[in-house]
Amino acid sequence: MRILHPGDPGYDDERSGFQTGLRHEPQVVFAVENARDVEEALRYADAHGLEHAVQATGHGLTTPTTGVLISTRRMNAVEVDPRTRTARAEAGAVWQQVLERAAPHGLAPLSGDAGDVGVVGYTLGGGFSVLAREFGFASERVRTTEQAGDVVTALEFELLPISEVHAGEMFFAAEHAEAVFEAFHAWDLPDHVTPALTTLGDVARVTFASTRPFDVGHLRVAPPLKEEFGLKPFARAVGRPLPPHTYQGDNVLLGELPLEALQRLREAAASSSAEIFLGVLPLGGALSGGASHLVKLVSPRLGVGEQHEEVFDVVRPFVLGKSRNFRYAVD
Ligand SMILES: Cc1cc2nc3c(=O)[nH]c(=O)nc-3n(C[C@H](O)[C@H](O)[C@H](O)COP(=O)(O)OP(=O)(O)OC[C@H]3O[C@@H](n4cnc5c(N)ncnc54)[C@H](O)[C@@H]3O)c2cc1C
Repeated sequence: MRILHPGDPGYDDERSGFQTGLRHEPQVVFAVENARDVEEALRYADAHGLEHAVQATGHGLTTPTTGVLISTRRMNAVEVDPRTRTARAEAGAVWQQVLERAAPHGLAPLSGDAGDVGVVGYTLGGGFSVLAREFGFASERVRTTEQAGDVVTALEFELLPISEVHAGEMFFAAEHAEAVFEAFHAWDLPDHVTPALTTLGDVARVTFASTRPFDVGHLRVAPPLKEEFGLKPFARAVGRPLPPHTYQGDNVLLGELPLEALQRLREAAASSSAEIFLGVLPLGGALSGGASHLVKLVSPRLGVGEQHEEVFDVVRPFVLGKSRNFRYAVD
């Protein structure tokens, strides 16, 4: 294990992650390699009266620590047991590692849309997979949690017998966004289909996935700028990793989302003084919890909390709470 202080070679690299807009500012970094190292880091924090934080990839950095940073990226072993259909992933492992080890056995984890997200951080936040409405939250598949204090050192979780999925996406020009949002809202969504509706600058994008066939014809309300849909290996339903960048984001869970509110969300995000990417995830199906939708906002810079709150104001009467995932650079 390496123990690094400000000014030490490697200190900046170790505290940096996917989020480039802010970084932890720790007095000391413990670059841990096993559970004993984690215990040592926790003992150190305790003895010096310092707070501690854990970082695997930095995708979900919310509030930087000034105390002890436990960096888990080197503690990243992944084992797959095809006999019990389980995987064990250490604290710093990312989904891509699990996908690669599970696929040769015709198995897949309930991973999300980015293979470079950490298994543990994602799962502790519930874990909304690209097949979430079909199989529920990733956290529901956890068999064993190994811990040192409040730090998870490894998770053992179920894999599913999934090799291929029906998945795809459609992109539409902004002028068709209203009609696309209306068609998305009217979708008589089978419980086994997991879709997402997103705005990205001047395009609207719909993605969808299921292990079973389904129809998306009704979404074709205008000629798509781009469309692809077909049966593909599960790992290919996962988006390509993005390079590290600066972003701020937050989310709300809603009890309902009437069409009028959905359209007003779209308008509020599009007309904001900040650039805002809006994401709408229908919940239900196998997802427990009672919320009907998750609405997430992401901007490619920091300092946009006020603008995000203005957009969330549109759906304030329907808000039940927040998901722990999809919160970036916010307290
Ligand atoms: C591009 C992108 C795509 C995403 N896609 C999805 C998606 O499809 N579905 C979804 O549900 N979420 C998604 N997320 C959200 C993601 O799951 C959360 O941000 C999650 O917290 C990231 O975990 P991490 O370990 O990669 O990040 P980190 O920033 O390293 O960790 C985030 C937080 O997780 C906690 N944590 C991490 N490791 C441990 C540990 N060993 N013990 C205790 N606590 C720990 C800590 O509180 C830490 O601050 C996405 C995020 C991004 C940026």
